Amino acid sequence: MSDSLLSHRIKNMPVSQTLAMAAKARELKEAGRDIISLSLGEPDFHVPDFIKKAAIQAINDNYNSYSPINGYLDLRQSICKKFKRDNGLIYKPEQIVVSTGAKQALANAALVLLNPGDEVLLPAPYWVSYSAIVTLAEAKYIEIPTTIDTDFKITPKQLEDAITPKTKLIIFNSPNNPSGMVYSEKEYRALAKVLEKYPDIYIISDEIYEYLNFEALSFSFAAIESMYDRTITINGVSKAFAMTGWRMGYIGAPEWIAKACTKIQGQITSGANCISQRATIAALEAPVSSIQYMIDEFNKRRLLILDLLKNIKGFKTTKPLGAFYVLPDVSYYFGKTIKGQKINNAGDFSLLLLEKVNVATVTGEAFGAPNCIRISYSASQENIKEAMRRISELLNS
Ligand code: PMP
Ligand code: GLU
Repeated sequence: MSDSLLSHRIKNMPVSQTLAMAAKARELKEAGRDIISLSLGEPDFHVPDFIKKAAIQAINDNYNSYSPINGYLDLRQSICKKFKRDNGLIYKPEQIVVSTGAKQALANAALVLLNPGDEVLLPAPYWVSYSAIVTLAEAKYIEIPTTIDTDFKITPKQLEDAITPKTKLIIFNSPNNPSGMVYSEKEYRALAKVLEKYPDIYIISDEIYEYLNFEALSFSFAAIESMYDRTITINGVSKAFAMTGWRMGYIGAPEWIAKACTKIQGQITSGANCISQRATIAALEAPVSSIQYMIDEFNKRRLLILDLLKNIKGFKTTKPLGAFYVLPDVSYYFGKTIKGQKINNAGDFSLLLLEKVNVATVTGEAFGAPNCIRISYSASQENIKEAMRRISELLNS
């Protein structure tokens, strides 16, 4: 058997760096190393009891069969209510598709909209899987670069300059993984003004970190009237309700796009897990106050890590406003040798932290941020303190 027999799609696909680093950290931990993992963006809380109860009830009520491909009607109705309550977005259940995680929702949207040769704009830094999914759809992703000095946000001029006759789609993600930045309503409206001139460009707005937004008001791209008919709003319960393994995501979109996503899902996976769907109704029907304790704890961790990062030599960091990541620029170390290890890039630096002080992070290269490393603070305050102590001991000595 030879890898050369594999399809070009898989040969061209990089492995997910977030999941690869998490796997490596897990492996080293199992081998007895005292690893602190700040690599994976995954809440460390238990699923709230009221959601667990709904899942147990669903099992006892014999929810065993295939569900409708686009999800149970009452779940889609709950999603419509949530979109109205939190985002001011009016969707009908026919505009909603429930999928196996926001990841599948994104893949569906890319596969139904993109043709070979289409261009997709990715404001960088961006989440690792966007570029891989676009490439899988045989389209081309075009990074719009940003730096720490502009808070990792693109300007309307940058957007306009990146548009070509081949541009089909742009993927926004706010609060952002990996930078933690959040676009304000005013900034989003300024970007929409540019897109108004190009009616053939579609927008994916990935709002999965919506509730992890610590200082600003959440704003949905589709809430801009001129954008509603060409925006696919993506959300899910992984981050907000600590339900990563339950694999539940969804979209709100123009009905013709929702129909196409249902069609592709019907050939690839069918309806998403029925127990998770019933549990998600409970999650979305509950007031946001039921998960406030998790949001508050993430905010404490954010302020803690920002405070500790100040004392680390050579790290340049913005103040993230949302999600649970910081993205320090570590380019100060490029070209230097630390404890016998030459640092040429962010990948080397991330490996240095893993090898010398047992702290797992993810290289920014995978996110289109080659000067940075991503640190996830979805870990206990104790682990955050210990990890920062180890890093500063290594770099400040
Ligand atoms: N979008 C972003 C920005 C993410 O960080 C993630 C990571 N979980 C996802 C989508 C996918 O989430 P899930 O598939 O767990 O719903
Ligand atoms: N989205 C999370 C992260 O970026 C989970 C891992 C993944 O699905 O990529 O770490």
